[in-house]
Amino acid sequence: QEIGDAVLRDVGQKINRLLTHGELLRLGSDEFLAIIMAPDRESVQDIIEFIHTTFKTPLQINGIQISVEVNIGIAAYPADADSADALLRRANLALNEGRAREERSCWYQPGWDEKHLRRLHLFREFDHSLGAGHISLYYQPKINLDQPEKLGSEALVRWHHPELGFISPDEFINVIESSGQITQLTRWALKTAILHLRRLLDAGISMSCSVNLSALDLLVDDLPAYVAELLQSQRVPAGQLVLEITESAIMREADKCLDNLRRLRDLGLTLSIDDFGTGYSSLSQLKKLPVAELKIDKSFILNLDSSADDQLIVRSTIDLGHTLGLSITAEGVETEAIKALLKQFGCDTAQGYLYSKPLPAEDFMRWVTSYLAELRDE
Ligand code: C2E
Ligand code: MG
Ligand code: MG
Repeated sequence: QEIGDAVLRDVGQKINRLLTHGELLRLGSDEFLAIIMAPDRESVQDIIEFIHTTFKTPLQINGIQISVEVNIGIAAYPADADSADALLRRANLALNEGRAREERSCWYQPGWDEKHLRRLHLFREFDHSLGAGHISLYYQPKINLDQPEKLGSEALVRWHHPELGFISPDEFINVIESSGQITQLTRWALKTAILHLRRLLDAGISMSCSVNLSALDLLVDDLPAYVAELLQSQRVPAGQLVLEITESAIMREADKCLDNLRRLRDLGLTLSIDDFGTGYSSLSQLKKLPVAELKIDKSFILNLDSSADDQLIVRSTIDLGHTLGLSITAEGVETEAIKALLKQFGCDTAQGYLYSKPLPAEDFMRWVTSYLAELRDE
């Protein structure tokens, strides 16, 4: 405590000495606010450099050497904001952005505040939207290329907000991941998807359904128990549920997730690595994971027929996956030509607009029924 106070006092004094035309306030804990009067950005930048240089030398407190790392976020008046509140908020956003980018100083950039407010807005609206039924699951078919009667599906979340309109999962998933609401979404999605599988079974259709998980979900200990309970109460065979985890997420938390992944696999579920090719997994990591499917990211598939590079990557990923005993799905299959190539490369499953866009549950049911009827007629 004592040393901490002494450090803060020393830091304050050092910065204060550099501010010949300005004012220094302590904001709380280890944050200071410097109000700098300067003719232009360059002179502010000079002061910032001085501050960083000053703290290159460790502080001497009670005979102890203490290194201090200083992060600086800057907002300019009047260019960035013209009220004290907004300036402070924007300087703070710049500070956080700088920390995230691992840059020691960072200037506010136009649009960040709006983006931040939009994120706050989404995060505040989410719970209500989920309760009010503005969030739903759509389903997209996955087709086995050798046995077209063998069907699967992927559940994809859709948020239609009455005022904000359609909000894409690419925008809101990472917002609710950082707010912790993702576990709520995942549980809701698992429940909805399993009920959907039950309805399909009641209609005489047995197919699998994939649900997307976030890495955070796998850090929650009771996820396997939750899934087991749902499958049992709905009398849905575990083999019909697939869980997709993105490559980057699974690799970031591989060790911590492994236990839960194994428990899920032992329940009889299929685990799948999504967006494969966009992360940096090593073969040894891949071999350790109890997964059964690789989904090649659509960025490698969308232009497959015109890109020799993509063909090389996709073909070798398929071979590699097969060597490891994995089933391979290609996502983003939009044309017959691409499907034909994938078939030629030995890919197991295809998913994409060629077959269907993601559809609401009722429409998906109709799609499946007519797809199966057409196959029988052929
Ligand atoms: P993903 O899991 O890789 O899903 C595939 C995405 O590709 C979906 O985008 C799908 O609509 C799109 N897609 C499918 N076929 C084609 C095609 O032929 N061409 C093109 N251009 N795109 C195609 P969507 O629905 O916007 O979802 C984006 C991402 O958001 C998903 O990527 C997934 O990572 C995440 N996501 C969606 N629903 C959930 C969910 O319930 N939970 C979690 N944690 N993440 C979800
Ligand atoms: Mg997916
Ligand atoms: Mg994907």
